[in-house]
Amino acid sequence: MIKNNVQNKVDRSSCTGCGLCVSVCHQKAIKLVEHDDGFLYPNISINCDNCGVCLNSCPIDHLLHSPLDSDSLSAYSYRLSDRDELRKSASGGAATAMMLYELSRKGIIYTCSYDSDFKSSRIIKINEKSQLQTVKGSKYCESMPPNYVLIKNELKLGAEILFIGLPCQIAALKKYTGETDNLITVGLICTGKGSRILLRKNTEFLVKKFNSRILSFNERFKKKNWLVPWMNVTFENGKKCSRILGNTPYGMLCHKLIRRSCFDCKYKISNAPEDILIGDAWGAEVYSKKAFDSMGCSLIIGINEKGKKYVSNIKGIMEEISLDEALKCNHAIDSNTIKDKFYNVDIQMLHTNSLEEIVIKNIGVRGMLLNNIRNTLKYILPVPIVKTILRKKHSF
Ligand SMILES: Cc1cc2nc3c(=O)[nH]c(=O)nc-3n(C[C@H](O)[C@H](O)[C@H](O)COP(=O)(O)OP(=O)(O)OC[C@H]3O[C@@H](n4cnc5c(N)ncnc54)[C@H](O)[C@@H]3O)c2cc1C
Repeated sequence: MIKNNVQNKVDRSSCTGCGLCVSVCHQKAIKLVEHDDGFLYPNISINCDNCGVCLNSCPIDHLLHSPLDSDSLSAYSYRLSDRDELRKSASGGAATAMMLYELSRKGIIYTCSYDSDFKSSRIIKINEKSQLQTVKGSKYCESMPPNYVLIKNELKLGAEILFIGLPCQIAALKKYTGETDNLITVGLICTGKGSRILLRKNTEFLVKKFNSRILSFNERFKKKNWLVPWMNVTFENGKKCSRILGNTPYGMLCHKLIRRSCFDCKYKISNAPEDILIGDAWGAEVYSKKAFDSMGCSLIIGINEKGKKYVSNIKGIMEEISLDEALKCNHAIDSNTIKDKFYNVDIQMLHTNSLEEIVIKNIGVRGMLLNNIRNTLKYILPVPIVKTILRKKHSF
């Protein structure tokens, strides 16, 4: 009965899966459990004594308010000078640069890594340069959040911490730790996190097809340039698999089958919980010729003074740009993703069908072929033409 009071409060349409309720539960009565849609939701056990701490700390039921002072925002285009590291980064390597700076001052980093079987991912702690390669790159499916209590304890002991994650995770962290000088938070501009089932099914499919364990998996590999991401996989038996991400069933679905709460994100830039927001500097060539690099270019937005001061310490090629221009070229900064037909995919299909079958059932073989031709042309055509097409598509 008591348990049900709390259990009934879990609203799957608004829960972000941030996991703060799990961390704060003194009874250890809450676990994040993957549901049939492939997302993590709190599951409350009979040990729950209905104390209500979880409900009161929820960053959705009790929003963290971070009113934005638009006059204090600064925007920069950024890229690493090291071409090899730039190529290995998701966009311009802004996150890498911040991690390098944090390590140079003996700080600790919390950010996202795949698990060793590449079927899931989680927020992990790193404190050595040799660990950087395991966390670089974008992971588009939902990851297991951290234990916020452990982070708060480390902060109390005086550790300098850099947390790079999704704005909903940062809202949870800040809700629990409050503002503290030794914590710097970097949020990723986000269109929504994909279902964990997609990553798992994709990995299982690849392992079976190539008959080998996966050694590395990059879902945003820059084969020729940054504009058309590739899925690049290396296997223990020496084989490799490389395909335009958007031409794989996984790539077609991971930006579509996103968490329900992501369609109404409460932590877009107007209520940004982070000190710094980073993402892709789409349209950089429009606002500054110097800013654009076909091998990747990050957009960095300093949300507050602390964030801006931190950004001033990173090494690389950086240029201050107009925030208005940046907003015009990257809708995900302040707008939510709109549901499309894929969103209505019958959840049961995720369990009974292959990813390819799901795509074919929803857009047909012709739709899939047209999609593949479009992406292949984007890859083959010269960069200026591709940029013009993308600008038309996203209307900027
Ligand atoms: C689900 C998702 C959706 C995104 N959507 C957009 C978008 O619509 N528009 C846009 O401009 N940018 C978007 N991004 C951000 C963009 O893809 C890059 O991740 C970002 O620009 C960082 O690039 P970088 O070169 O600085 O990163 P790198 O230097 O390669 O480092 C990447 C950093 O991001 C962290 N990270 C990667 N995946 C996750 C994850 N799932 N959860 C928490 N941390 C993670 C890594 O651990 C690492 O710290 C999205 C990212 C994700 C994960």
